[in-house]
Amino acid sequence: MQKEYIFYDNIGLDFPLSEEIELVKVASKGEYLVSNHPEAEAIIYAPEINFYLKQSNDTIAQKINNVTKLYAMRALGFDFAQDMDYSQEVGGKVLIVSEDASHEALKEELREDDFTVMLLSPSMILDVNGHIGDLHVTLKKEDELLELECDQIIWWNAPSFAMKQSGVYDPALLGLEGALKKLRDNKGEYHYKNYINYDPSICQYHERREEICGKCAEVCPTVAILKEDETKHLVFSHIDCHGCGGCISVCPSGALDYTQMPRIAFSHLCAYFKGATALIIPHKMDLGLIDIPLYEGVLPLMIEGEKYLHEAHLMTLLQTSGNPIIFYTDFISKGTGDVIRMINEIFERKYHKKAIYVCEDTADLARIFETMESFPECMYGINEDGLRKREIFSARLAHLVGDEDLGVVKAGEHVHYGDIKIDESKCTLCLSCVGACNVRALTAHPEDNSLRFNASICTNCTYCEVTCPEQECLTVVRDEISLKPSWFSQRIMAKDELFTCLECGMPFATVKAVEKIAAVMTPLFGNDEVKLRTLYCCAACKPKVMFKAHMENEMKGMNV
Ligand code: SF4
Ligand code: SF4
Repeated sequence: MQKEYIFYDNIGLDFPLSEEIELVKVASKGEYLVSNHPEAEAIIYAPEINFYLKQSNDTIAQKINNVTKLYAMRALGFDFAQDMDYSQEVGGKVLIVSEDASHEALKEELREDDFTVMLLSPSMILDVNGHIGDLHVTLKKEDELLELECDQIIWWNAPSFAMKQSGVYDPALLGLEGALKKLRDNKGEYHYKNYINYDPSICQYHERREEICGKCAEVCPTVAILKEDETKHLVFSHIDCHGCGGCISVCPSGALDYTQMPRIAFSHLCAYFKGATALIIPHKMDLGLIDIPLYEGVLPLMIEGEKYLHEAHLMTLLQTSGNPIIFYTDFISKGTGDVIRMINEIFERKYHKKAIYVCEDTADLARIFETMESFPECMYGINEDGLRKREIFSARLAHLVGDEDLGVVKAGEHVHYGDIKIDESKCTLCLSCVGACNVRALTAHPEDNSLRFNASICTNCTYCEVTCPEQECLTVVRDEISLKPSWFSQRIMAKDELFTCLECGMPFATVKAVEKIAAVMTPLFGNDEVKLRTLYCCAACKPKVMFKAHMENEMKGMNV
C-alpha cells in the first residue's frame, strides 16, 4: 500500500525516518498527501519539514519523531478542513487604469495573449462593484454616468475602494510582471474556496434590533463580508475573501471559524506540541529568510490565514505545550494583537513570565531563544469538542486563575470581555435580558426564580442593556476581565418569590412584577375594586373576575 507521506532526500539525510514516510532519492510523483519538497508531488507541500531539519538543534531521535509530527500535523489539517472548492469563469476583458495614456506596448502584449484591452484615466472612475470575472465599473463621461463591464483590472496606485474587489491588481504593489501573471493565471477559470464558516445563531449582528456588532465587516480588507442593515443579515462573498482570517480573530462570539483549521482541528494539533515550543509562521512569510539555528524543542507551525488566531487558540496551545509561543510574522491582526497583550498580562501576573513573543527578524528570534522560559505548571487538558470559543477560553482561564485573585486586566479595543451589574431593587425579573442574550451568559432558573449571569461567557455586546425595560437597572461593565473565581461561574443577579393568583392560587408572575404593575395601574383604576382585584389575578382569572362583577351588576339592575 502506498504511504501518505513522501520525503524527497536531496540533502543527504544521514539518519532514517519513520516507517510511515516514503523516503526517495529521486523526486517522484504519486498519490501522496504531504511532501517535504515541491518536486515530490503531493496534495500538500510542507516547507517547514526541510526548514526544521536544516535549522533544528534537536537530537537525531527527536528529529525522527518531530519530522513525523510535522507530516501528521499537515495531514490533520487536511482531514478536518471544511472548505469547498468553487470556480468562476473569467473572460478576457481587461481594463487598464492609469494616468499614463501611452500603454501601447502593454496593450499589445495583452492582445497577443487574447485579451481585449480598454484604457481609462482614474479620474473618470466613480465606483467598482462585482467580483473577478464580473466587474462593473461606473464612469463619468462629461455629464453622463456610464457602466462598463470587464473581467479584471490593472490599476496603478489603485484607491482602497477598488482594491477591495477581487480581480483588481496594482502594478505599483505587485510589479507589472506580477500583475500580468495574475491576469494570465486567472483567465479561463478562477478557483477559490470558502475560508470562513458562519454560525448566525450566536452572531451579535444577526437580526438584532440595534447594531451592536459588525466587527468582522469592519476589519475585512475586501468586500467579502457586507452588512445588510435593513434585515441585519451578514452577506458573505467567498470569491472576494483572501482567507486572511482577520474577521475570526475579532469575532466576539466565535460565530466565525476558519475552514482550513476549524477550532477542534486546532485543539488536536496542539497535542503535537506537548513539551515543545511552537514557532508559528504564517505561509506568506519566507522560510528561506529565517536562517537561524532553532533551540532544542522548537517546532515550526505553519498557518494558512495569518490573522485568524484568537484567545482560545493561543490558550489551548500554551496549556497543552507548557511552553511559550513565538509568532514570527510581519503582521499581527487587530484581534490577535489584543489577545497577545491580554494573555501576556495574565501570565505575568500568574507566573511572572511572558507567554507569547512576536518577532519579525532573526535577531529578535535569537534574543527570544535566550530569554524564554517554560511554565509546565500551566498545563491543562479539556475536551474542546462542541465547545464555543468563549467556553474554551473561560474553562482554560478559570483553571489558570485557580483560587487566586489576580486583579483585573483590560480586554482590548478589538476583543471584548466584561461584566454586568443589575440593581436588584429595580429588576422585575421580566427576563427580557435573557431573551436578548444569544450566548447563554444570562440564564433564567425557574427552580429558584433567579436570573443568573456568567461573565466569562459574555461577549460584552450590550444588547441586554438596550433591551432592559427598566431605567438604570442593568449596566454593562466594559472590557474588564476579573481574574478571580467568581468571574467564571454563574452568579445570581436577581431573585424573587412567585405571586399567587388571588382567585385560583396559581403562581403567575414574580412579586416585584405584580407590585410594579399594580403601582402604575392603581391610580388609574381609582376606587374600582373589581379592576383593582384583577391586578392580582392570573391571566385566566382576570376576565372571570370582570365577567362575574358584570353579571352581578346586571342582576342588581334587574332587581331594581
Ligand atoms: S478571512 Fe480576511 S478577507 Fe476573508 S472575510 Fe475574513 S477578514 Fe475578510
Ligand atoms: S464579528 Fe462575529 S458576532 Fe460580530 S457581526 Fe461578525 S460574525 Fe457576528
